[in-house]
Amino acid sequence: MRLYVTMNLSTFRILVVGAAAGGASTALLLARAGAQVTLIDRVAEFRAVGAGLSLAANGRAVLEALGLWPALIGDGSGARAIRGARLIDQVGRTLMTPPDGAELAVVTRARLQEVLLDAVMAEPRITCRFGVSLERAGPDGIVTLHDDSEEGRKHPIPAPLTMDAFDLVIGADGVHSQVRACGNFGAQVTDTGITYLRALTTGTGPGIPGVGGRSSESASDAVEAWTPAGLFGALPTSEGHYIYGSADAPDVREAIVQRDLEGVARAWGLAWRPAAALLRAVDTIESLLVNRVLHVNCTRWHDGRLVLLGDAAHAMAPNLGQGANSALVDAAVLVDALRHAATLEEGLIAYTVRRREAVGRVARSSAALGWLAERRHVVARFLRDRLLWPIAARLTTSRQLNQLLQESPEVLRRMVTEAMQQHPNHEAGQGAPVLDARADRAASMVRSHLAASAGRPQAR
Ligand SMILES: Cc1cc2nc3c(=O)[nH]c(=O)nc-3n(C[C@H](O)[C@H](O)[C@H](O)COP(=O)(O)OP(=O)(O)OC[C@H]3O[C@@H](n4cnc5c(N)ncnc54)[C@H](O)[C@@H]3O)c2cc1C
Repeated sequence: MRLYVTMNLSTFRILVVGAAAGGASTALLLARAGAQVTLIDRVAEFRAVGAGLSLAANGRAVLEALGLWPALIGDGSGARAIRGARLIDQVGRTLMTPPDGAELAVVTRARLQEVLLDAVMAEPRITCRFGVSLERAGPDGIVTLHDDSEEGRKHPIPAPLTMDAFDLVIGADGVHSQVRACGNFGAQVTDTGITYLRALTTGTGPGIPGVGGRSSESASDAVEAWTPAGLFGALPTSEGHYIYGSADAPDVREAIVQRDLEGVARAWGLAWRPAAALLRAVDTIESLLVNRVLHVNCTRWHDGRLVLLGDAAHAMAPNLGQGANSALVDAAVLVDALRHAATLEEGLIAYTVRRREAVGRVARSSAALGWLAERRHVVARFLRDRLLWPIAARLTTSRQLNQLLQESPEVLRRMVTEAMQQHPNHEAGQGAPVLDARADRAASMVRSHLAASAGRPQAR
């Protein structure tokens, strides 16, 4: 009989910072694996954000194994499978089609967030605290939280600041991660200089205006055009399209600065005609999200009881559509690594070893693709479109697809499914948390903080 001497997650008290794709899925999986989880987000109420996400087979496998796929698809108003996706040039010539076996679905961020949060709220081992942000976190697991929620505002001075201690603090708090800022992760944040706009359109129906294409209930065309103004993509949603495009061409940038949606549509229409119709189907300029692309590269992903996940660890260019998908893979691998380790440190090392290089490769390819898409000079575009793409198309192999997915969907499904089952031969190992002593320390720090700040204005 095999005897596992591994950590018992049910004795763990874990703080997950950030309740978006990475944090909410991690919290859910940890709780279902037995841990007590506190999930915080500085956002008190998640509003619908005007963008979509493409889900690849890796992210989908994690969501499916968590049992969330039916809710994501819903009554046809949710995630849509994409077939016939094409990369084209500005006159509509196909430059590339995804390799065989590349499955894609598109979902609105709002839908994904709603489904994840519904599941999180229904999980008894998760305490949700929204409107609460992390201010400080130490490698010893002691954190300072700023409670700006209704509840927090009722507290006497010096609330809304509180301290607490956790066995593990997971920074799923995005590209500007505060957890990362508090630890020693050897982090490098690079501004790529590339800006993208994103929006959801309504009322344009399936099929991309001016591109043709086919559609059915479960399959429809999606294109990304590489043009003299950079790239412009459109993926069909149940209500219209999720569109995204470069925002660095001077006339596009100027129209965005002037908050002139019609100007953005006109400027983009000169580079690629269908973009104008798609942009005119956006409700208001406020519905247009404009983001600068930042890269995050960390030499370490954990520092004591702090660990990073998702964009906090590896924000990347969006050109391969793997940011959120990779965050979902992180969640599955982190929980699997913790479950199979004898100590917390061993689990965090196993997680880093398995994820850092794999996701780093994808981030580098994505950055290269982003750079190529922004080439505007006619000669550079000619060389890229007529020479590079045909060669690249021939070299696309299933090995590259596997590298893109980082973990096979079957392995991810197994990791998630096993984590959610009680391990029959489980023995608590050396990783048993030492929370009591640290909780005492946190309590005494809170008391001295209270004493020191008595009479001072409320800390904000
Ligand atoms: C233009 C564009 C297109 C993209 N398209 C795709 C795509 O098609 N497919 C894909 O997979 N990815 C895509 N991505 C990437 C994807 O959006 C990110 O990788 C993904 O959202 C990262 O998820 P996350 O959970 O790590 O972080 P985030 O989504 O950034 O969430 C972080 C959360 O932490 C909270 N938070 C932050 N600081 C604190 C704090 N101090 N205390 C408490 N809470 C805090 C925030 O409120 C937020 O809810 C795209 C990105 C861009 C810019």
